[in-house]
Amino acid sequence: MEKFLIFGHKSPDTDSIASSIAMEYIKKQMNEDAKAYRLGEINNETKYALDYFKFNVPELLENVTSDDHVILVDHNEFTQSANGIEEACIDMVIDHHRIYNFQTSAPLFYMAEPVGCTCTILYELCIMNNITLTREIAGLMLSAIISDTLLFKSPTCTVKDEKVANELAKIANVDINTYGLELLKAGTDLSSYSAKELINIDSKLVSINNVNIQIAQVNTVDINDVLKNKSEIEDAMNLEIKNNNLGLFMFLITDILNCNSQVIALGNRCDVVEKSYNVTLENNSAFLEGVVSRKKQVIPIISENI
Ligand code: MG
Ligand code: MG
Ligand code: MG
Repeated sequence: MEKFLIFGHKSPDTDSIASSIAMEYIKKQMNEDAKAYRLGEINNETKYALDYFKFNVPELLENVTSDDHVILVDHNEFTQSANGIEEACIDMVIDHHRIYNFQTSAPLFYMAEPVGCTCTILYELCIMNNITLTREIAGLMLSAIISDTLLFKSPTCTVKDEKVANELAKIANVDINTYGLELLKAGTDLSSYSAKELINIDSKLVSINNVNIQIAQVNTVDINDVLKNKSEIEDAMNLEIKNNNLGLFMFLITDILNCNSQVIALGNRCDVVEKSYNVTLENNSAFLEGVVSRKKQVIPIISENI
């Protein structure tokens, strides 16, 4: 029997980890062999969710080969996937992002919806296949929806995400708001990170019109607290720009209580940021009113203005 390797994107977030674990559970319920992996260090928010619902941290996967059968969750772009992904056999994708530079040599199962979270789609997959969820799996999937939608406040959140979250909260037996705020708060503890680690907690590399753009994001309850280390953060960003030949590096410091972001932008295409948001960068930084979603409020906007 084929064993599927399941993983989300590099710099894994709660959705990437929860979706991998939930997908392993679903496959096993269907009597198929599968295992969840992670492509990098988990963040403090994900750690809180795994501890709360008593899951182990998935094993680290360094790379895949042509012998591997893989299931991608919460991503499809090869730049965000495992090293060697071009060679592997991709049997399934469950995702809620733009589809970009994606191709396979064999037919596959691809389920994508413009919803706020991959776990919302996985819940539908469970319904389709008559799979019942344990309290723990439901709680983990709920954590992913809370995380990706910032407790339903992100513009990426849909009616379906809220509906599924409510169903999952019943099974998990938690109060969404109480648990949700604790979960998000756990993710704002950035005290243990160096500047280099900070810009890699939640970071994605995208290519737009052949310009390599890194967009990283951290959640906080106090933007100024993060800005205290601005010069170290800028040094770390400049190093990545040099090493990865980036045209632009955007570092978003997102205030999850007021739903705004401060951006630090570096690279020779900073003009794109100024044009996209009609702002002037001062000391490489600007306040972006109401911007919280990279997927909906950053990537599409800078794509238009590059
Ligand atoms: Mg994600
Ligand atoms: Mg996601
Ligand atoms: Mg995210």
